[in-house]
Amino acid sequence: MADATIAERWIEPPLQAREHTLCDADTYEAMYRRSIEEPDAFWDEQAARLEWITPPETIADWSFDPVAIRWFTGGTLNLCHNAVDRHVAAGRGETIALIFEPDDPAGEVRRITYAGLQREVIRMANTLKQLGVARGDRVTITMPMIPEAAFAMLACARIGAVHSVVFGGFSPDAIAGRVEDCASDWIICADGAVRGAKPVPLKAHVDAALQKVAAKAVLVVRHTGVDVTMVAGRDHWYHEASQGVAEDCPCEPMAADDPLFILYTSGSTGKPKGVLHTTGGYAVWTETTFRYVFDYRPGEIYWCTADIGWVTGHSYIVYGPLQNGATALMFEGVPNHPDHDRFWQVVAKHKVNIFYSAPTAIRSLMREGDGHVTKHDLSSLRLLGSVGEPINPEAWRWYHQVVGKGAVPIVDTWWQTETGGIMITTLPGAHPMKPGSAGRPFFGVCPQLVDGDGQVLDGATEGNLCISRSWPGQATTIYGDHERFVQTYFSTYPGKYFTGDGCRRDEDGYYWITGRVDDVINVSGHRLGTAEVESALVLHPRVAEAAVVGAPHDIKGQGIYCYVTLNVGEEPGEGLAAELRAHVRQEIGPIATPDFVHFTPGLPKTRSGKIMRRILRKIAENDFGSLGDTSTLADPSIVETLIDGRQNR
Ligand code: ATP
Ligand code: MG
Repeated sequence: MADATIAERWIEPPLQAREHTLCDADTYEAMYRRSIEEPDAFWDEQAARLEWITPPETIADWSFDPVAIRWFTGGTLNLCHNAVDRHVAAGRGETIALIFEPDDPAGEVRRITYAGLQREVIRMANTLKQLGVARGDRVTITMPMIPEAAFAMLACARIGAVHSVVFGGFSPDAIAGRVEDCASDWIICADGAVRGAKPVPLKAHVDAALQKVAAKAVLVVRHTGVDVTMVAGRDHWYHEASQGVAEDCPCEPMAADDPLFILYTSGSTGKPKGVLHTTGGYAVWTETTFRYVFDYRPGEIYWCTADIGWVTGHSYIVYGPLQNGATALMFEGVPNHPDHDRFWQVVAKHKVNIFYSAPTAIRSLMREGDGHVTKHDLSSLRLLGSVGEPINPEAWRWYHQVVGKGAVPIVDTWWQTETGGIMITTLPGAHPMKPGSAGRPFFGVCPQLVDGDGQVLDGATEGNLCISRSWPGQATTIYGDHERFVQTYFSTYPGKYFTGDGCRRDEDGYYWITGRVDDVINVSGHRLGTAEVESALVLHPRVAEAAVVGAPHDIKGQGIYCYVTLNVGEEPGEGLAAELRAHVRQEIGPIATPDFVHFTPGLPKTRSGKIMRRILRKIAENDFGSLGDTSTLADPSIVETLIDGRQNR
């Protein structure tokens, strides 16, 4: 519907991207076809880039009904070996693996080579062993964005322990809930963290969490130097406990379907789920997707701005880049400190070539104006990426034009914690881009759009996004609750994996995520995705961000309720509300005309930066009592502001 006005244009990949790509359009077609027609042969070939201790006997070994997902059965390998040791063994030990850029722009940059990484990971692994951590044990890691967070993850993978990374900014309750859920006896944390010069008392949070749940040991990395309480017998300083540990530590041979990590989802749609990923499939999926989507070339600097506490940080700061021998930047800070140009200053400082970020960050920087971007030399950039939410075409254009100077492709990558890695995206150089569309399925991915009754819809259409076949990166269960796994993803449409997202497919076979299925608004019998209306609002020059939900409406059944934040310096008012209504009507059509416009200084977002529409829906419905699980909200105080705004209408 909105195509014609919002995203009318194809954008061809720039010539330089087409010339250097690993995969051009024809190669993509041939590889995609083979991945579907001969999946075993295809994935066997991709998996061969990894080093296996024992090669797999069976490649794909899965069923969606009953649900049992296994890949590369019979194979054994160690992911830490593949991410670290094999590069050192191949003579690439002096290549930089991680560049650490601290929160304070004047702070010390750390550069860690693959050989250095190997030493650090071994030190951490032997320290964990000494504390009693054994294969199969769950280890909670709650850390700032410092290299030790990656060392800790890789050390767990090395000794066969299962890591559960909990975002370093979470409250004691949120930490306790996750420690308890996966019965994790060990915790790795830092004394404190700083984000945008604001201190976070990490160890104190862990102490408070451990008032509610027990742990055998807490390993504390000294980072900010803040005073902490150490409980004798339970708490250990890393720099002390690691003294004198052995300098070698063999990589534990892991079965391909042995657990690698548990990670809790963002909680946008409900209580976070402890998604479990296994070793072999996840290793192959992150290695392959990183290789083709980011088209990485030796010597390049790659930067993913996600936090290690989210799946994006797992797959595209740690496991994907390191398996490819890449140089990945880790940034401790935030986009708007000390000023709104911090990202661009870091890009210029480290000559970043590949930059992977999220719509929430892009929109928040866009509202501050172009000057913060244009004052820096961003000519090193070769590829831009986006993940986490649908990117509004207006934000896409700004990213493309102002950040990428129109000369750099953008990959808009759709995926989920449960998918382990990227599922739908254009490939740079291979595919023209359409602002707001994620693009085409990655190798081995079979998207299907189905209607409410589970009928598969063909051609250009809109429906609920399912995946009809397993892929190597697929999560195998929810930790400790396989029934919830089956219920959540496989019961709505038996025999298919249901993503929970709504989606449109256009005549070119491009996929457009329209929002969460639960958020679809039904206006007088017409179904409207939230993304579409939000994108129309963001297109207005005075609007920074918008979130749209359905609200009860006497005549239409559901009315369109829009929460709107404005660009810096803009004032809300009835006149502007009327203008926005007319604007959306013009962009999409009369059916999408907003019924309510609620100006707000901010939106409720998860810690991973996603808009939590389920809370907005409750507020729009005047139902303030039962807001559900809000433990993953970044700023809970915004809820009060929104309720006040609602009550004063
Ligand atoms: P929960 O499952 O707990 O509700 P969540 O779904 O937000 O939380 P994640 O796994 O972090 O947790 O996010 C995955 C979701 O993010 C996808 O289902 C989709 O709705 C959205 N998403 C991610 N990338 C994109 C993208 N490129 N375009 C559109 N939507 C995206
Ligand atoms: Mg989800």
